[in-house]
Amino acid sequence: MPSYTPPLRDMRFVMHEVLDAVTALRELPAHADIDAELIDQVCEEAGKFCAEVLHPLNASGDAEGCHYDAETHAVTTPAGFRQAWEQYVEAGWPLLNAAPEYGGQGLPHLIGSAVHEMQNSANQAWTMYPGLTHGVVELLGAHGSDAQKALYLPKLASGQWTGTMCLTEPHCGTDLGLIRTKATPRDDGSYELSGQKIFISSGEHDLSENIVHMVLAKLPGAPEGSKGISLFVCPKFVPDAAAEAGERNAIFCSGIEHKMGIHANSTCQMTLDGARAWLVGEPNKGLAAMFVMMNGARLGVGTQSLGLTEVAWQNALAYAKDRLQMRALSGAKAPQQPADPIIVHPDVRRMLLTARAWAEGGRFLVYWVALLLDQSRQHPDAARRAEADDLVALLTPIVKAFLTDNGFAATNECLQVFGGHGYIREWGMEQLVRDARINMIYEGTNTIQALDLIGRKVLMDNGAKLKKFGAIVKDFVEQYGVSDSMQEFVNPLADLGDKVQKLTMELGFKAMTQRDEVGAAAVPYLRVVGHLVFAYAFARMAAVAQAALAAGGDDTAFYQAKLQTARFYFARLYPETAAAIRIARSGARNLLDTEAVFA
Ligand SMILES: Cc1cc2nc3c(=O)[nH]c(=O)nc-3n(C[C@H](O)[C@H](O)[C@H](O)COP(=O)(O)OP(=O)(O)OC[C@H]3O[C@@H](n4cnc5c(N)ncnc54)[C@H](O)[C@@H]3O)c2cc1C
Repeated sequence: MPSYTPPLRDMRFVMHEVLDAVTALRELPAHADIDAELIDQVCEEAGKFCAEVLHPLNASGDAEGCHYDAETHAVTTPAGFRQAWEQYVEAGWPLLNAAPEYGGQGLPHLIGSAVHEMQNSANQAWTMYPGLTHGVVELLGAHGSDAQKALYLPKLASGQWTGTMCLTEPHCGTDLGLIRTKATPRDDGSYELSGQKIFISSGEHDLSENIVHMVLAKLPGAPEGSKGISLFVCPKFVPDAAAEAGERNAIFCSGIEHKMGIHANSTCQMTLDGARAWLVGEPNKGLAAMFVMMNGARLGVGTQSLGLTEVAWQNALAYAKDRLQMRALSGAKAPQQPADPIIVHPDVRRMLLTARAWAEGGRFLVYWVALLLDQSRQHPDAARRAEADDLVALLTPIVKAFLTDNGFAATNECLQVFGGHGYIREWGMEQLVRDARINMIYEGTNTIQALDLIGRKVLMDNGAKLKKFGAIVKDFVEQYGVSDSMQEFVNPLADLGDKVQKLTMELGFKAMTQRDEVGAAAVPYLRVVGHLVFAYAFARMAAVAQAALAAGGDDTAFYQAKLQTARFYFARLYPETAAAIRIARSGARNLLDTEAVFA
């Protein structure tokens, strides 16, 4: 059976030593008194819950899956899930990031992200039940009326009720402008929703006493396409006068999907048969509002893959130290044993280091973006808020797509470390690969993220957000470029920064005459920019590790490991950029002038 140990030392390294999060957070009035002890205590306690309560349910939940009762439309989660939920709610974990006015603790997103990483390492399928609920809290907090906030937020924030996002329909996923679910106004100001939604995560389950669905639908006479979408809140049980779960609403689960991974999370077909619902925000502005939840979910999905990468690495490492096969090419390393442990073989190390590097770079990126999110919402200086907001917007598709592509590759490499045993269920590695696969698909496929990056975030913005990130890289290069010991990290970072600038200009010019050039270059472009972010991350982490080693102390091995991982990253993962740049430059014709192939 796989095991999981919360990587608290690595988490502290990124939060405190690399990001100096306490100093940054103290600039925000709401967190003026925060200290490292508080952050570490919360992470430690959350880590215990994840390792002791959630992780033991991961394999059993996968094997059992969810149960659907066609007569009652009820969904039952696997054994132990409900008890874990009760413990989670009783301990107050759902309240961590929620606003104090709704009973929340109002702690920084940074802490929430660290906890989310551990939850996903322990049990991604379980974590999706509260994960989407946080998104509903954010969405109603941003766009709900005062009455809606008062009615729903305290119960959602506490975990008494849970939430979903209902966008996808059988004929439309990426292109939400095609949705057909209808909203018919009633005399009392509410609406009746009719239609069919599919693939709704946590759409029905037995964990909470009510489920609050955020539904996209069309009003009568609404404009065609995405400009005619409105957002509604549609509870499973309509709250009564006392704001308690009241009358059963006409939104019900009409089946659950049997799928490749995340078996323990219910993926529901939802039928809306005149379900009572209330408009959130303005008519026909629903998609823009929904982006609050979608952007949060995109960051959350990247964090799911970070969690899976970490737990895959931990288990593959333990196996590689234990499994004896063949001798090292350079001679026996464990002559007292019948064979050497496989960790002596260079290619086994390559697989392990790949997972390790994707986890370390991913952790830096997830925590940095979480800190930027805190700054973008709460910094007293408007210019700093705007700056942080731009960086979050630029980095969101990278968190979603780069981390989930890497997460799938990492879990796959870790499975390979186990040889044939990786393919066998009891070792738990094949579950991680299956679970990791969905992260590249939902919340906008990774292709859509790539189009968002190159199109909306870079070209339509004339590269302004990318220049802001470029300026951060430039400052770093100027500061550390003079240090001999940092050359091996700073030079490739600076070089890639120049190449990204050039490639972006080239693609921008091409796009002016032929829009398909953007679509043809998007995916390799995201890989290149993702590497620029990771090159910055590894160079920053290397600088901190070098300083710590120079200062002396007893944690030498820890910091040496950071430097060795950074070296591995630049030697073996970063070179992907050369191929990706070449592919991005190859143009659209090799894809589109291919009619004979598809005839
Ligand atoms: C397990 C699971 C859970 C889910 N949870 C939810 C949920 O909670 N709520 C919800 O609303 N939805 C949910 N979804 C739906 C998910 O978000 C969609 O599956 C996803 O957005 C893709 O839509 P689609 O499946 O219809 O694929 P399509 O949109 O049909 O896309 C098919 C392929 O075409 C590509 N493509 C489409 N348009 C373009 C384009 N313009 N350029 C280039 N390529 C393009 C896509 O990238 C993809 O590879 C879930 C799905 C699954 C499988």
